[in-house]
Amino acid sequence: MPVYRIAKKINIKGIVQGVGFRPFIFQLAGRHHLTGWISNTSSGVSIHIEGAAPDIETFLQAVETAAPPLSRITDITATPCPASGFQQFSISESQTETHATALISPDVSICADCRKELFDPRDRRFHYPFINCTNCGPRYTIIHAIPYDRPNTSMKAFTMCRVCQAEYDDPNNRRFHAQPNACPVCGPQVLLYDADGKQTAVSDPIQEAAKHLQNGQILAVKGLGGFHLAVDATNNSAVERLRQKKHREEKPFALMAMDVPTIRSFARMDADEEKMLTSSVRPILLLQKRPKSPIVESVSPGNPTVGVMLPYTPLHYLLLSHGFKALVMTSGNLSDEPICIDNAEAFKRLKNIADCFLMHDRDILIRSDDSIARRISGVTRLVRRSRGYVPVPVFLNHRLPPILACGAEMKNTVCLTRDDRAFVSQHIGDLEHPAAHDFFDETITHLKALLDIRPEIIAHDLHPDYFSTRYALALHDAVRIPVQHHHAHIASCMAENRMDGEVIGLAFDGTGLGTDNTIWGGEALLADFGGFKRLAHLETVPMPGAAFAIREPWRMALGYLHTAFGDDLANMDIPLITSLPPDAVRTLIRMIRQKINSPLTSSLGRLFDGVAAIMGIRNRVSFEGQAAMELEMLAGTHPIDMRKETVYAFEWSSGATRRIAIRPLVSGIVGDMKSGIPLPLISRRFHATLIRLFASLCRELKGETGVNRIVLSGGCFQNALLLEGLISILEQEGFAVFSHSLVPTNDGGISLGQAVIAATVSEHL
Ligand code: ZN
Ligand code: ZN
Ligand code: FE
Repeated sequence: MPVYRIAKKINIKGIVQGVGFRPFIFQLAGRHHLTGWISNTSSGVSIHIEGAAPDIETFLQAVETAAPPLSRITDITATPCPASGFQQFSISESQTETHATALISPDVSICADCRKELFDPRDRRFHYPFINCTNCGPRYTIIHAIPYDRPNTSMKAFTMCRVCQAEYDDPNNRRFHAQPNACPVCGPQVLLYDADGKQTAVSDPIQEAAKHLQNGQILAVKGLGGFHLAVDATNNSAVERLRQKKHREEKPFALMAMDVPTIRSFARMDADEEKMLTSSVRPILLLQKRPKSPIVESVSPGNPTVGVMLPYTPLHYLLLSHGFKALVMTSGNLSDEPICIDNAEAFKRLKNIADCFLMHDRDILIRSDDSIARRISGVTRLVRRSRGYVPVPVFLNHRLPPILACGAEMKNTVCLTRDDRAFVSQHIGDLEHPAAHDFFDETITHLKALLDIRPEIIAHDLHPDYFSTRYALALHDAVRIPVQHHHAHIASCMAENRMDGEVIGLAFDGTGLGTDNTIWGGEALLADFGGFKRLAHLETVPMPGAAFAIREPWRMALGYLHTAFGDDLANMDIPLITSLPPDAVRTLIRMIRQKINSPLTSSLGRLFDGVAAIMGIRNRVSFEGQAAMELEMLAGTHPIDMRKETVYAFEWSSGATRRIAIRPLVSGIVGDMKSGIPLPLISRRFHATLIRLFASLCRELKGETGVNRIVLSGGCFQNALLLEGLISILEQEGFAVFSHSLVPTNDGGISLGQAVIAATVSEHL
């Protein structure tokens, strides 16, 4: 029977470069007796395929169902074209188009195949710390231009040896076109240096580094997206010394441990958490600590959770194979500064912290911190979205013009848009630190180059003093659109959930400038992408000392107590007041009365801080959110059962913008304290009250607006009790509830919201 040959041209878009897509197609074509070629383009891959029609049909099905694990097809078209009579299937060189729309893969943890070779004494890459293949290895952090080919990466500096080149050229080899392909003969090398930057001449630098760690020393290790500072997590004096040197008093350190069984010896995890932990993204996952663990308490003091990750580079595996239960792996920086990536920079900035440096000569081209995730109410929530996620876009409902959204001030990220994609950058950090300004700039430049985006619209926060706002205002040749902070929070959650139209948004966080020049943060908004109406907010209270009131929650406590009880607060018989110097109390009351340096805020984050201080949990914090976190931890980890919990009284004013009264809540707490109710119980009641209060509020707002969709966003929703409790009660009452899973609920998600709002406001949607 004669077989008629037909031909098709196939265009595939998505993450199809640097993920083994071309060899996959090559082998698939071979299996189906098809000829033709495949080539990378700037928008994905292009395929010309020839053969019998039924073979092409099954080939096309397999392209979608059997694609490599790291690939993601977003668009596939197949159109008939004339057959050219190709005798075989080949892989041709990359074509560059004028408009780059291919998606770059994020950095990927070492795969199982490479791990096997890494520990196989007969393999030529035995113990080679830079082993990788088409399915694993660095991507985003080593590329500076597209297409993703070796000359556009920091591997350009290394010429492949004959053996590596043969692997790279062989479509049947699992290193075919693996751009970072390398071996001990031709690739990057690891070297050990002392604190003075002098190289230590040893045959096995990793083994030597492990010895230093075993002796309690601090090791700076160059990783994928930057340097880590490492110490043995079972050595208390080593951990304490690292805290002291890094100026990080209490903020928890993350751990890295060899495998799941080892992690189970000091932390609990369920099947979903195990899946998350072992995924190729390898985030730091927040897990419940086990009692009597070998990990010293100073790793995350007073905290029932601990952040843990598995090794994600071969170098990490080799280091941990020297018998460590777990290593502290904290970002290589002084507190709150950006992570170090460059060798010379690391010596300069870390020489007073690290005792020795484990370095290598493969350059990191852009910083990318470890991502941090936590499972809440059955969903993975990102606390920090960086390595392993970036630059995977958030896919939108609409096509957007090219926009740069500059983000907020703390936990900053930026966002660039093209078509129906929003590219949220890796975590940049707190722009209050001048050291982060360059990183902000570098990230915008890097992303613009990789995505080939020239922004026409610049979105920024309303706050005139944010570095990100000042940056935006200095860009004169673009349309600039200011976006209110809490509107951006709600829009960000709407965008990732692919919503449209009006929603009731609960935006709860620490700080964001409102349209009335007060500081917002406990807001119920009727919102869509085009605008919002403030339906309700927490009653505003003074923040005596402004920024000081954030660092010193006892000041907030006095702000709330004064709102509830007036000047009588000075005579209150609660430990907070009796322990404070009477002078300090008097001074603050005067500041509040005379409105001296006491801006007004409706922030829920501040309420958490203030209540924590009223309850005597802590008067000062060493990192943002610390008091609020401790208040949550005090309440225990059991989800709040609203049928069983007692709640404090609550009320709000009537009118177009309701004010939720502070007095009933605060006097309820103070009353409980005076009657000797245990603090954990008071904390649970406080949480339960907020849940009941906001559920009742949503019911009333639904009655007024007819809107049944509730969107939850803002840093306060990192509180698991609050998020879980609100989702569950609102769903029971028939609301459709939406929360974050793709971008952080904290200010790391702001840039996404700014972008979609700016697109709408500029009438591009
Ligand atoms: Zn691999
Ligand atoms: Zn080689
Ligand atoms: Fe915020």
